[in-house]
Amino acid sequence: MKPLYLAESFLSVQGEGKYVGTPSVFLRFGGCNLTCKGFGCEFISPYDDSKLIGCDSLFAVNEKHFKKDWQKLSGEELFEKVLLYVKDLPYKPHVVITGGEPLINYKNPIFYGFLELVLNYGFNVFFETNATINIDFNTFTLYKKASFCMSVKLSNSGEKYAKRVKRKAIEAICKNAKEAFFKFVLDERMIKEGYAQKEIEDITKNFAAPIFCMPLGKNKNELEKNSESVISFCIKNGYNYSDRTHIRLWNDKRGV
Ligand code: SF4
Repeated sequence: MKPLYLAESFLSVQGEGKYVGTPSVFLRFGGCNLTCKGFGCEFISPYDDSKLIGCDSLFAVNEKHFKKDWQKLSGEELFEKVLLYVKDLPYKPHVVITGGEPLINYKNPIFYGFLELVLNYGFNVFFETNATINIDFNTFTLYKKASFCMSVKLSNSGEKYAKRVKRKAIEAICKNAKEAFFKFVLDERMIKEGYAQKEIEDITKNFAAPIFCMPLGKNKNELEKNSESVISFCIKNGYNYSDRTHIRLWNDKRGV
């Protein structure tokens, strides 16, 4: 059985998207099927001190450079971790499963077993996914009980269209999941040059899922630079604006 790696976990509030502000336990799994170098976040490798470029979760994406910091856990150990976070709370926060791309593990019995434990305990489970993995909902039926935030990547991710847009995977989620919504990362340039709207329309046509747009921003400065244009863009096109609360409050600090 393939091991399952956890890059980090923490209890906080959801910083972006439809459930912004909701208390949530975050589990960030290691590994991703994309690299998204276009987001331009810089990290220094703990492995060989080289400079690495990618998204703000690169430490959960790049196996070669960061895997030694990831924890190899069983489904029961993961569940224990969640219970530890909530043991003093008089309510059940959301459980947010993110990455990297967490659904690269969707058939893994450790991952699926963990999902069963959290769902049976009564937690609301949210997957944060790039929506490129075509889930077989008929065989792996537990995924029908979860909500999906589909953060489909646009051209500013630097990934090729054929790799980042998988219509069948989006369709399966929209058709089967308890709840699904889109979340796009936009920058001022793609709005000004007019291709943000075309790209969103192309991806979301034929799907009824709500659309949230948020500004690109690896830190507070970049977030502020992009926010106003994204707000105007949302007003003009009838989309929902989502801020990135964790970056406003904690800048680029991890695990908050
Ligand atoms: S899909 Fe998400 S986690 Fe993976 S590289 Fe792109 S932005 Fe990062």
